[in-house]
Amino acid sequence: MPDALMSTYNRLPVSFSRGEGVWLWDKAEKRYLDALSGIAVCGLGHSHPAIKAAICRQAGKVLHTSNLYQIPLQEQLGDELARISGMERVFFANSGAEANEAAIKLARLYGHRNGIANPAIVVMEQSFHGRTLATLSATGNHKVQVGFEPLVQGFLRAPFGDIAGLRSVAEADPNVVAILVEPIQGEGGIKLPPLEYLNQLRELCDRQGWLLMLDEIQTGMGRSGRMFSYQHNRILPDVLTLAKGLGNGVPIGACLARGKAAEVYAPGNHGSTFGGNPLACAAALAVIETLEADKLVERAERLGRRLLAGFADQLTGVGGIADIRGQGLLIGIELERPCGELVTMALEQGLLINVTAERVVRLLPPLIISDIEADLLVNQLCALVKTFLAQG
Ligand SMILES: *Cc1c(COP(=O)(O)O)cnc(C)c1O
Repeated sequence: MPDALMSTYNRLPVSFSRGEGVWLWDKAEKRYLDALSGIAVCGLGHSHPAIKAAICRQAGKVLHTSNLYQIPLQEQLGDELARISGMERVFFANSGAEANEAAIKLARLYGHRNGIANPAIVVMEQSFHGRTLATLSATGNHKVQVGFEPLVQGFLRAPFGDIAGLRSVAEADPNVVAILVEPIQGEGGIKLPPLEYLNQLRELCDRQGWLLMLDEIQTGMGRSGRMFSYQHNRILPDVLTLAKGLGNGVPIGACLARGKAAEVYAPGNHGSTFGGNPLACAAALAVIETLEADKLVERAERLGRRLLAGFADQLTGVGGIADIRGQGLLIGIELERPCGELVTMALEQGLLINVTAERVVRLLPPLIISDIEADLLVNQLCALVKTFLAQG
């Protein structure tokens, strides 16, 4: 088959022509329950009327001007994000990796301003921060890095979820300026740190003058059962990065900062042609408005509990299941052996799931999933997992 696309993906043999809510349809009108949301992007599901209306309305006015001019929708979105996050300033980008690039550059500039010529950022084992050179260097996964050496310098690796391990790596190094960490590791296999972890990181950063930079690109925008995952801990980061769920499918990323991190950038330090354009901002404003109006964050927490209880009920004690875990609508079912084939098995049965870290079934369903659809997901997936495990 002629194919001009670079082979950066092993694509599944399906394409979708339309979607509504948690459902997608392929060309043959076969229906699929989307339990992945385009990897935590379509939190409001597909063809949400409020998002559609916002995009169409804006497309009829103006799509793009430039950051050389004032952009009222960008200002409005900045204010909204500040209001819901407790952060103070925002830089808009177009993706997660770009949001993290903005955070990494901010941390380095913060270091230089404080007389540190070779600033270092602490990053975690099994982390994922993106595919650009700096973000793949920050990522704790050799597969993402191999072949792209030399890596970007200035990252220090520490174990995730382990404050003592982190301190032994970082405290002796006078060049450390920041910690960059996911509150829950997504690509790493829905790994939840101990409950007190973020509080401990906050304390350590305060004591050392380091920036606490949270990558909430996957966990943010209500997915964890709070608007932002750190709100489970009642702390605030110094820097926060967002993308995925922010535009519900319209590309947008954001790097937010507060306190001593808020005034680091000055004109000329950073920029983006597309970042925060009127179309993307209109979509993101509609996302925030809908999440709040429909109480979808609370819903994510409640539905997450329902799903976890359902999986525990049907899979606890089943041989081959290693762990069932999650927070809100980030759910991982860890098997004792690699289970990549489950993705194709599920696809055949009209269910979209993902397997990450080789052995973890990852579910990131839309926040609008109904109780009935959630129960359907549990029943369908549990039957599949049992079939898979019985194949030995
Ligand atoms: C997806 C993801 C990224 C990268 O986002 P892109 O939009 O693909 O560049 C970074 N960090 C985390 C935690 C992610 O889940």
